[in-house]
Amino acid sequence: MTKTSQILFATGALSLVAVGVGAWLLAPAPAQPTVVLVVMDTVRADHLSVCGYERETSPTLKALVANGAQISCGAISPGAWTLPSHASFFTGVMPTEHQAHSISSGIDSFAGGGNRARPLDERLPTIAERFSERGYQTGLVSANPVVSGSMGLDRGFQDVDVATRFGHYTNSRWKPTMDLFLDHRDPVAPQFIVVNIADAHQPWGAPSSNMDWSSEYGVGIFYSKKNREGDYSRYLRGEMDPMRTPHFEAQVNDAYDAAVFMADENLAYFLDRLLQLGFCETAGCRVVITSDHGEMLGEHRLLDHGHYAYQSNVEVPLIVAHLGGPEGMEWDSVELPERVSGLVVHDLLLTGRLPDPLPAVQVVAWPHARRCSSLDGVAFCNLQAAIWDGDQKLLWDQGETLSFDLSLDPDEEAGTPTAASDALSKLARAGRQDERDDKKMDITVTEMLKAAGYLD
Ligand SMILES: [Zn+2]
Repeated sequence: MTKTSQILFATGALSLVAVGVGAWLLAPAPAQPTVVLVVMDTVRADHLSVCGYERETSPTLKALVANGAQISCGAISPGAWTLPSHASFFTGVMPTEHQAHSISSGIDSFAGGGNRARPLDERLPTIAERFSERGYQTGLVSANPVVSGSMGLDRGFQDVDVATRFGHYTNSRWKPTMDLFLDHRDPVAPQFIVVNIADAHQPWGAPSSNMDWSSEYGVGIFYSKKNREGDYSRYLRGEMDPMRTPHFEAQVNDAYDAAVFMADENLAYFLDRLLQLGFCETAGCRVVITSDHGEMLGEHRLLDHGHYAYQSNVEVPLIVAHLGGPEGMEWDSVELPERVSGLVVHDLLLTGRLPDPLPAVQVVAWPHARRCSSLDGVAFCNLQAAIWDGDQKLLWDQGETLSFDLSLDPDEEAGTPTAASDALSKLARAGRQDERDDKKMDITVTEMLKAAGYLD
């Protein structure tokens, strides 16, 4: 018997018991909405047209907002890469608490002591388990291979479909993946669905024909991280020919924008299928859309993501949309602050409301020892921590603190040296305490990360 039919059978049995004891005494339980988290992996807020970007990169998000969805374009992802952020979405606690993130050894000497990632602690309850307890059917489909069982991120999901490699579920391959995932689910039963759309994550595919600005683009870009003489390494080491540098930066920027557009297209397909198949008919769909991190596109002469607390790496969109539902149905209204921690995703999904009080807006980004070593110590090397109060930001970078007014200096080009606040010192201390090797890491995690391109 499949899991789905087991659940249907159990529900049917409960109904019969209820009728037997006198159903007339029981008020009908209110129908439970379908609850959906969409993580648009690697999508930074300032490259979305819905957040004011000049290129039309996000028509789907724009349409949602035009139809009443709430949006923040200044949300800060709880982590700097996929694992810590998803672990925070799923547990409601920060990476310094759940400790699922990159861990390094040899960091002081940059001696290439390796880089590892610690999976989510199995003692921490997950949101999928919470929804299961409420009688929901739970499903996870991810185009990002890191959102997987070997990282402990599948716990509580009854159905799991995770790409084994970047690119397997992106571009046009997303649609059959979605069809397969949704077609066998019961649209009438309450559903908790998490979807990771990874088009904006490297490698970036060839542009879609639906972009009217697509003629500006070439083919996709794939960073060759192991090739010390390739564009990626030469750029980061500052050894690229100065004549070539602007062209390379423009190519990276263009390929990324095209990839964001494709992520938005694939979001449209998923939401359309949800509506067409009736998942939002019985009690509506509560949909939370965000990203797990951004992407460095040459700011601070950096590329890639995962190990920086700069805006480009951590400023993401956060959107709450309500779709479908019976006539007269009302949702709790949510007013998203412009600057908010992505940690609130957990409560928005569970309750439809923001937590009170709101969590501090902060992030810790741990370094990547091996990449730092292979790049002669010019990138991926520092532990960073940051804390925000609106547009005021304090950035701690390996012991030194800079303050920024992002309203005047959105690219963080001219920080003022300052003393760390107590809260920032405490955050940085927590990050340093957790910057340790973990010899007990499961070998399968290492192999999975290698296969996914995170480890060399
Ligand atoms: Zn990610």
